[in-house]
Amino acid sequence: MLDRLKDFDGPPVEWRFAAGLRVMRGQLESGPGGGAEVHAASWVRRREVVLDTALAGSADELARIVAHELFHFVWLRMHNGQRRAWSELLATERTRGELGWSSEWRRRELDPADARLNTRRWREYTSESFCDTGAWIAIGLPGDQDVTPGGRWLRRRERFFRELRSHWNGAWRI
Ligand SMILES: [Zn+2]
Repeated sequence: MLDRLKDFDGPPVEWRFAAGLRVMRGQLESGPGGGAEVHAASWVRRREVVLDTALAGSADELARIVAHELFHFVWLRMHNGQRRAWSELLATERTRGELGWSSEWRRRELDPADARLNTRRWREYTSESFCDTGAWIAIGLPGDQDVTPGGRWLRRRERFFRELRSHWNGAWRI
């Protein structure tokens, strides 16, 4: 699996596994209990990621989620202009599709005004969409979304990522 992640480049990241990861009242918890199940959570500035132990059962799913989390680190390395360009790309898409569930459910909850007002909901959606798209490109596996964007929108996203990577000598900077 590490071989599939060799294009990421940066200081070390600490990884942990925990069973039954979920978010309850905005707090990450593990073990039995209520709340919304999540695959992983990242603390990008502390360079820590926690992954749900259930992911260890599937090398593909683990690779996709690890790549998604690493793209949260990439997102932080980008400058504002690059993040804005990604946000504008999404704002002009005419699709409901996404490349992972994390961005898909957020896209469904957006109001038409969110992009224009650059709300917190919009900003969270754009970063999740960036990470789902990055994981799809870096690992080459389909995500867990219901609806995938059409070819025209996928090609625009791929162009964005190619351009981003070309500024970093072909690596994903984390
Ligand atoms: Zn995410």
